[in-house]
Amino acid sequence: MNPVTESVSTLNKHPQNTHGLRSTNNAARLSVSESESEAERLAQFLRANAPVTILTGAGISTASGIPDYRDENGNWKRKQPVQHQEFMQSLDVRRRYWARSLVGWPVMQNAAPNGAHLFIQTLEQQGVVHRVITQNVDRLHQKAGSERTIDLHGRADEVICMSCGERHNRHDWHQVCASLNPHFRNLQADVAPDGDADLEMDFSGFNVPDCQQCEGIMKPDVVFFGDNVPRPRVDECFEAIDQSRALLVIGSSLMVYSGFRFARHASVTGKPLAILTRGRTRADELATLQLSADIGNTLQHTVKYL
Ligand SMILES: [Zn+2]
Repeated sequence: MNPVTESVSTLNKHPQNTHGLRSTNNAARLSVSESESEAERLAQFLRANAPVTILTGAGISTASGIPDYRDENGNWKRKQPVQHQEFMQSLDVRRRYWARSLVGWPVMQNAAPNGAHLFIQTLEQQGVVHRVITQNVDRLHQKAGSERTIDLHGRADEVICMSCGERHNRHDWHQVCASLNPHFRNLQADVAPDGDADLEMDFSGFNVPDCQQCEGIMKPDVVFFGDNVPRPRVDECFEAIDQSRALLVIGSSLMVYSGFRFARHASVTGKPLAILTRGRTRADELATLQLSADIGNTLQHTVKYL
């Protein structure tokens, strides 16, 4: 069994549906048939508009066990994540962040790509996909083999000094954090988005290591809320869309401007915009094709129909 088939059969055992049906079997059947008809429409869109750039959000990684921030209406499911300015200004915020991520990070580190990531990689190999822009920091597109991915919001698997730019592998960084804080090791808590965990305790005794080169503040190499995506990276995304014939958004409500601007750019430059995600998005009025269906199932059938 190849990895794609294997991942999808795993996905099919856990269909994501939102129809509120009590019977799991009925829901599963509905989800599959719904996905097939939606897949025909998506395949038609891709045949007419390839190559496309794909923009992905948190909804594509939930099947890999990584929680997302928002519900299907685009509202926050939980307390808002750490803000950039708070992290930079407050040692207490950094203590809390790193202590919680000792628990939460291993889940993201060990997550495997699901069928959706693998099907996108297949589409990339077939020349249907020009570039993948992802709002996720989990590196699952790269783990799936996609070679043309732009990490819009950075990557969670590296840590960077905010003063001198020194970089470390996050796994090694966590080893340092754990050895400095033996009383914070092996705690249990529910996992939260972006390598965070739902852990509440007294963090004041947590020892946060500084940069070994310059004693600067170390931060995951991700764009926190309240910070800006570096301009060259934004320009690379605009360029990818300009070089494509259409934009396909998968698994994002586009509530954050940093992603929404690309839907708007596609629209104002006359490129068709397709959206595959559950629920409402900020770009619904701009979409030429809108598909509210299971992401993994729909992409599985789409690859078949192409
Ligand atoms: Zn430094």
